[in-house]
Amino acid sequence: MATTSPPSVPNLWDPAWAGSELAALVYRSNLLASDRSIVNFGGGNTSTTVIEPDHTGRSTNILWVKGSGSDLATIDARGFTGLRLDEILPLGTREAMTDEEMVEYLARCQIDPSMPRPSIETLLHAFIPHAHVDHTHPDAVGAIVGAVDGERLAEECFGDEAVWIPYLRPGFALSKLVAEAVAANPGAKLVLLAKHGLVTWGASAQESYAETLDAINRAATFVEERSEGRPAFGGTVRAAVPEEQRAALLAQVLPALRGAVSVDGPRILQVDVSPAVLEFVCGRESAATSQIGAACPDHLVRTKRRPVWVEFDSEREDAAVLRRRVVEAVAAFQERERAYFEAYRSSEDVLSDPSPRIVLIEGVGLVSVGRTLTAARLARDLYLRAIEVMRGASALGGFVSLSDEESFAVEYWPLELYKLTLAPPARELQGMVALITGAAGGIGSAIARAIAGEGGCIVASDIAAERAGALAAELGEVARAVETDVSSEASVIAAFRAAVLVYGGVDVVVSNAGIASSAPIEETTLDEWERNHSILARGYFLVAREAARLLRDQGMGGSIVFIGSKNALAAGKGASAYSSAKAAELHLARCLAEELGGEGIRVNTVNPDAVLEGSGIWDSSWREERARSYGIAPDELEEFYRARTTLRRNVVPADVAEAVLFFASPQRAVKSTGNVLNVDAGVAIAYPR
Ligand code: ZN
Repeated sequence: MATTSPPSVPNLWDPAWAGSELAALVYRSNLLASDRSIVNFGGGNTSTTVIEPDHTGRSTNILWVKGSGSDLATIDARGFTGLRLDEILPLGTREAMTDEEMVEYLARCQIDPSMPRPSIETLLHAFIPHAHVDHTHPDAVGAIVGAVDGERLAEECFGDEAVWIPYLRPGFALSKLVAEAVAANPGAKLVLLAKHGLVTWGASAQESYAETLDAINRAATFVEERSEGRPAFGGTVRAAVPEEQRAALLAQVLPALRGAVSVDGPRILQVDVSPAVLEFVCGRESAATSQIGAACPDHLVRTKRRPVWVEFDSEREDAAVLRRRVVEAVAAFQERERAYFEAYRSSEDVLSDPSPRIVLIEGVGLVSVGRTLTAARLARDLYLRAIEVMRGASALGGFVSLSDEESFAVEYWPLELYKLTLAPPARELQGMVALITGAAGGIGSAIARAIAGEGGCIVASDIAAERAGALAAELGEVARAVETDVSSEASVIAAFRAAVLVYGGVDVVVSNAGIASSAPIEETTLDEWERNHSILARGYFLVAREAARLLRDQGMGGSIVFIGSKNALAAGKGASAYSSAKAAELHLARCLAEELGGEGIRVNTVNPDAVLEGSGIWDSSWREERARSYGIAPDELEEFYRARTTLRRNVVPADVAEAVLFFASPQRAVKSTGNVLNVDAGVAIAYPR
């Protein structure tokens, strides 16, 4: 007898809810997907059939079904497609139909050609003789349909209320099989698709929703009862690595992993050490279980068939061993993926990137990989679902998955790949991470916005933690603030380590943190001299040194951009401490360009001048000091600077950001290093020579 009650999915339907049938479909879909253990991101599909007038006014049976590529959690009415059901039903008498024929045929049944392409599982919805149909991939049901002895277990759990359908890729044949099985079993309340998912229905939207929940809760209770007393994944084989040691390990391993997976462009990494992941990576049977295959065909294009499993014994082995093993495991995975592709490909197939999307490190955690932060998080979220399915299926006696041939047929299925084409086009800095010092200031925040605008992730480093936090909050999940004192060795090391742990590494480093002070030489105190040199010359050195270490470690090239100053080239009267430190930065950049060029690491300098807008420096005594040295009032400085430029323009932060973007971009500036780009509206004494 069960001593604990299994987790039960609550019915969230508001009895007072009212609306049209299409609105009810939207409401039901959103409710189902509000729980990701029921509906994966982008997975599952729902439908409702209504009798409504078409554009001619004739009463028509309209099947509203999810459009391909949308997510049920956020879908609205525009995400559904209306189809003339009476034109679809005659297909039930056909023997076979190719995917292309099906897509073409359904396009002609749309009540409005501008609606999205209907779900690849549309025929399943059309052929089931009920007005409201849900198709989902819930964890608890996944455990039964993904168990070694699934059909018998399904019978024990649901009796003759469930119809069992052996695995078949979605499409015409599967839809027909389901329709025939449902017709032959009038008492059936649900369909279980082997190694795939659940289909339920109802006479109303509310009833269909309730039937889906009922099936899930029955499955969850069954799994819970059967696994009673048995530890998940064969019990724990080792303890999880303590948090501090884990961070230190990951900081040393992730850059090499990032280099290894970034075969055709940079990748973002995401670390997950949630309790479910730690239980899995410490499980006795997890290494073997993880290599069986995907937990749902829907996961394949995002997670691939299998993760990389890396053995690690933290008590006997160190970071260097782990690092080497991770790199070797990724290379072996890539080789296997290429062989898998060659084994099953047709002449039209194109190899998708052969790198793993999920890397599991024994005792340490999960690392997901994506071309974007969103893709890395999606792979992670789907794998968390896979862990739940494997936990349940293992408790029921063993987990089974698609064969390699079946996997390939889904992973490289044009109809599945179509979903991916609906994603926004790649942006120039996609997959890249930029660490910007002094990010909270006027120039720094303009650079951060510009890089984020091109798809890069941002590590906003600044000594002003609160303002850096505000900038990161403005930019959203693609940015993280890190409090940094660039004159402190430990603080700079910590900033780079944070970048590695948050996004996996860094591609662009913008050294921008600065101060300025102005005084005649006799009045320049030693403190003032050292303050300028400590934040500027020494700060740029410390940041560049960590940048070089990390960029070399990743082995992916990279770009370091120094924000210099006109004063680096032109003698600034009454600002010798500042100007000499700026000159040191400029020469440091050129030395590093020589030193790091062999590894494809470019080092360039952008020299702005008189950027007053949004500047902390210009809000300080620097403004008054500069005005005094020119013999003008402080509020005359903008006009003074404009007048002295060749172009008669003031320079603003966005101008500087544009120049940084050029040097940051591997497409635009791949052959530019050791360079200086003045952004000063033309100051003749600073023309490089
Ligand atoms: Zn499905």
